[in-house]
Amino acid sequence: MAERSHFREGELISVLTTEPVGRPLDYRAPAGGVAPGAFVEVPLGPRRVLGVVWGPGEGSFDPARIRPVNRVLDAAPMVPAMREFLIRAADYTLTPLPQMLRLATRAPGLADPPGPRRVYRRGPGDLPDRMTDARARVVEVLQDYGGASFALAELARLAGVSTGVVKGLVKAGVLIEEDAPRDLPYPRLDPDRPGKALTEDQAAAARLLTEGVASGRYGTTLLKGVTGSGKTEVYLEAVAEALRHGRQVLVLLPEIALTSEFLTRVEARFGARPGEWHSGVTQTERRRLWRMAGEGGVQLVVGARSALFLPFRDLGLIVVDEEHDSSYKQEDGALYNARDMAVLRASLCDAQVVLASATPSLESWVNARTGKYRRIDLNARFGPARMPSLSAIDMRAEQLQPNRWISPTLARAVEQRLARGEQALLFLNRRGYAPVTLCRACGHQIGCDQCDARMVEHRFLKRLVCHQCGESRPMPEACPSCGVEGKLAPVGPGVERLAEEVAERFPDARVAVLSSDLFASARALKESIRQIAEGAADIIIGTQIVAKGHNFPLLTLVGVIDADLGLQGSDLRAAERSFQLVRQVSGRAGRSDLPGAAMLQTWQPEHPVIRAILSGDEEAFWQAEAAQREAAGMPPYGRLAGIVLSSPDMHAAFDTGAELARKDAPLRRIGAQVFGPAPAPIARVRGRHRVRLLVKAARGAPLQAAISEWTGQIRLPANLRLTVDIDPQSF
Ligand code: ADP
Ligand code: ZN
Repeated sequence: MAERSHFREGELISVLTTEPVGRPLDYRAPAGGVAPGAFVEVPLGPRRVLGVVWGPGEGSFDPARIRPVNRVLDAAPMVPAMREFLIRAADYTLTPLPQMLRLATRAPGLADPPGPRRVYRRGPGDLPDRMTDARARVVEVLQDYGGASFALAELARLAGVSTGVVKGLVKAGVLIEEDAPRDLPYPRLDPDRPGKALTEDQAAAARLLTEGVASGRYGTTLLKGVTGSGKTEVYLEAVAEALRHGRQVLVLLPEIALTSEFLTRVEARFGARPGEWHSGVTQTERRRLWRMAGEGGVQLVVGARSALFLPFRDLGLIVVDEEHDSSYKQEDGALYNARDMAVLRASLCDAQVVLASATPSLESWVNARTGKYRRIDLNARFGPARMPSLSAIDMRAEQLQPNRWISPTLARAVEQRLARGEQALLFLNRRGYAPVTLCRACGHQIGCDQCDARMVEHRFLKRLVCHQCGESRPMPEACPSCGVEGKLAPVGPGVERLAEEVAERFPDARVAVLSSDLFASARALKESIRQIAEGAADIIIGTQIVAKGHNFPLLTLVGVIDADLGLQGSDLRAAERSFQLVRQVSGRAGRSDLPGAAMLQTWQPEHPVIRAILSGDEEAFWQAEAAQREAAGMPPYGRLAGIVLSSPDMHAAFDTGAELARKDAPLRRIGAQVFGPAPAPIARVRGRHRVRLLVKAARGAPLQAAISEWTGQIRLPANLRLTVDIDPQSF
């Protein structure tokens, strides 16, 4: 973009809005002129909508009808590299540009009318004697957030009360209503405070990363290191270097619950807390962070994948921690992979990317091998901590009671830890009580009415829950199919059922169950993790949330209840995912000076994935996986796109799919093949049937253009939605 610095009043400009109109529209610059990239409000038909000044106008329609911009919003203009990023990300993911812009304008209150906003906070006055429950909840929220002030609607939402309750508290003198202070910059981080003394390996790794940052050019590094090897310490050095150069830094984490530990480390290292961006952050705080990203008033942001769309003024480094994590893929709306988009964004603004992981994705492993990324390895754990010893428990040789899942061998190992005052973690990647509820009278398994999925019993909630759509209903007495009462039985274990077994076997142990659905909020989960780390539990039972990065110093034993789970399935990534998950979980054991052990319960100890995990010969595993993918022409050696057609009417979805498959000339022209239509991996969600076509192309093929042309040939029937998923996660 050859960039003008200012458009004078009345000059023709183009404005991209967040409305689905496709391309930027022409307007006239308002009184006082406007800068390129400025956030503006423009008329669109009878409405006023949000937009960004995209460039000079094109004069594409009658000049007399071109309307002026209503007003320029109070926010720093979006820099050219950010606009370029949105264009390229939209092109890559085949997402309409306005939808992409919406990701970058998720600033609460951005389009508020001019003039100060009103906010509410706790006043100095005492609480009146007669507080209703609703009023008490408001006061509780304010206490939870320690002195913060909130917009009216937000405070009411957080407390789950009407806005009238908040207003009532103002009248009663409990709350103060006032003008919002202008958003303040974040406290300065000091990159020159001394960090930890690094080991030789760590220092060498840190040097390579800081050199990259200091070069002021783009580059991506895969930082591969076993859990506890000090990857975080090392990339914090790169963060410090970026801060010294006055550039902004973004650290992406896959899980909100990981942020609090990270924030504490940043504060210890740089003397102040960074900005925080995820769904658990208040709107008031998000609004401030969004603004400061644009104004340069925040140096370091820690966030979830959507933080990648903050309008940073000068981003110099992006860290993607646990880069293999599947939660980086956004599976709703604009389908993007935050790891890949981080690389794109960095390449457009001369920034460095650090992809950190103990078990990288196959894509990154291959990119490092072909030299597209640099790779740095940290092979030893820091300090006395050693890698846990790994062993398999052959379940065929164990004496198990029916409906019991902890083998005698594993139980003995747990008892030893309890006797020594250490912690044991039992890992089972299944939420709820039991994955299947079976009627012993007629054989019926209770399924979701809306989805192609079983309902899962959650005994703490006394409900059946669909893990696909979230639909839930009370646990019935009688079978919904045959009507016989008292015959419904749980089949198989979930973490809640495992907790029952643990309580029976180890009656004196303190047990904590870590499963995302058992916590009311991310804050509650964080708090629980903190207490466990301090020793508040003897046995931890957890789903995959425990696999990610948490540090439990007293934990010396990890028992994987079902290491075979995830090995089956037609998905080509099944082996890769199982390998990563089981290795990650095993890595939780023995992170301090206590030696750790991981025990894998398996019915097929000779399975190649189980053998690869036990032998620790990772490179051999990756090479074998890569060779398989290469032979099949699958990613990352070939390119894939999924086209999902969804409709309440299954036949309509299939018919359209078949029509697309027939009209494949645009694909054949680039040498691509189309497979399907077939039921999508999740064939029915929320009452919509989903049919999928897969397109496979060679690595350099112009896949996006061909897909646009291809799907553009057909008219979609009403009620049918077409979604393109470039680089689908499952194939
Ligand atoms: P990773 O990110 O690879 O899991 P961390 O950076 O979290 O590893 O390091 C694991 C633990 O070891 C942390 O508690 C960290 O503070 C500590 N640690 C790592 N390197 C050093 C060092 N050079 N000096 C002191 N403590 C260190
Ligand atoms: Zn459902």
